[in-house]
Amino acid sequence: MDVIVVGLGAMGSAAVHQLARRGVDVLGIDRHSPPHTFGSSHGETRITRRLTLEGAEYAPLAVRSHEWWRRIEAETGASVLTACGVLNLADHAADAGAFAVHERAAAAYDIDYELLDAAALRDRFPQFRVEDTRVGLLEPGGGFVRPEAAISAQLELAERYGAQLHRGERVLAVEAAASAVTVRTDAATYTADQVVLCAGSWLAGLLDDPGLARLFGVYRQVLHWFGIEGSRQDFTPGRFPTFIWDGVSRADEYFYGFPSVDGATVKVATGQLDHRTPDPDTLDRTVAPDEAAGFHQAMISGRLPGVSARATRSQVCMYTVTPDEAFVIDRLPGRERVLVASPCSGHGFKHSAAIGEALAELVTDGATTLDLTPFAFGRFTR
Ligand SMILES: Cc1cc2nc3c(=O)[nH]c(=O)nc-3n(C[C@H](O)[C@H](O)[C@H](O)COP(=O)(O)OP(=O)(O)OC[C@H]3O[C@@H](n4cnc5c(N)ncnc54)[C@H](O)[C@@H]3O)c2cc1C
Repeated sequence: MDVIVVGLGAMGSAAVHQLARRGVDVLGIDRHSPPHTFGSSHGETRITRRLTLEGAEYAPLAVRSHEWWRRIEAETGASVLTACGVLNLADHAADAGAFAVHERAAAAYDIDYELLDAAALRDRFPQFRVEDTRVGLLEPGGGFVRPEAAISAQLELAERYGAQLHRGERVLAVEAAASAVTVRTDAATYTADQVVLCAGSWLAGLLDDPGLARLFGVYRQVLHWFGIEGSRQDFTPGRFPTFIWDGVSRADEYFYGFPSVDGATVKVATGQLDHRTPDPDTLDRTVAPDEAAGFHQAMISGRLPGVSARATRSQVCMYTVTPDEAFVIDRLPGRERVLVASPCSGHGFKHSAAIGEALAELVTDGATTLDLTPFAFGRFTR
């Protein structure tokens, strides 16, 4: 075996697809049967934009991923990317720095965008009730990616190109020696030249260095679907964008949402980083009814009058967050044959197809076309 990929969620499905495409003898192993609802890659939609708020170093990953989503769609017939536009609703004065990042990325990658003042926002998107100080940055080519469809399509392509996929098999240990890596599972023991760890929130449990394991904190997240009051047409993709309501002056006001994919509900959520979860397997996956009601009251009420307080469902998901909320994509220090891909911190999906390609390049060529140096372990261990 040339390579074993541990975990077949967003990152692992992209990695196994890209490796198989290059003719690498690759085995992908997942303890569940992806796509599934136990990790970080479920819930129908993920924001995608190439004008990345998180920093200019991410733009090339998103740009390349958009190219891959379209290619994956063409090769499988799946619907992965919906370019319904993505709207960042910010306080203009406070967010000037972030908009400057956008302008540089837009120029560098030829990405269309529009700036909308409060009057233009009310005219174009009357679904939002915005204050006079709010400004919008609309990227028409952004929108959302369907995580389950993206994972299924990449696993389908991986198998088409010859990858072996073992679902429902749990990796218990990864032991790296000078000449090979041994992967022990609950079913068998394998050896490979290289291993790529894409275990999402379970990554820390596979690292034998407690200092490195501590870098990956797991946080419970909750997604809510609320019913639409009034015209459902007003919330369809095309009429209503994927959006981020930035609480720049008040961080507790940050939330995001999507156009309706089922014609009846709108999905909204926020990032929750208050309580680190000690073990992803004991995460509380229940959502009390008052959690949804509290979310609606705090975030939606008064801002999206067409979105009712009636939650039709809520779902729990996990962020894996590093201390600087940036990714780790690197070889494991002291274990050159083991690669780690932990690009979560709540913003990884949009970059995942390109990260899979970069991982495959690292495995086969030892170097990547896209610059991954901002995501090295070294920034924490220096
Ligand atoms: C609520 C929420 C909202 C988000 N919103 C956005 C967004 O709008 N835009 C965006 O770009 N990103 C977003 N993200 C982040 C994005 O979804 C993640 O970056 C991405 O899903 C992480 O993928 P992953 O492959 O690392 O983890 P996962 O998809 O969870 O995959 C890990 C896999 O490893 C398997 N595994 C774990 N341990 C083992 C083991 N021992 N043996 C075998 N298999 C194992 C698991 O079963 C799982 O399938 C969001 C995340 C969450 C949770």
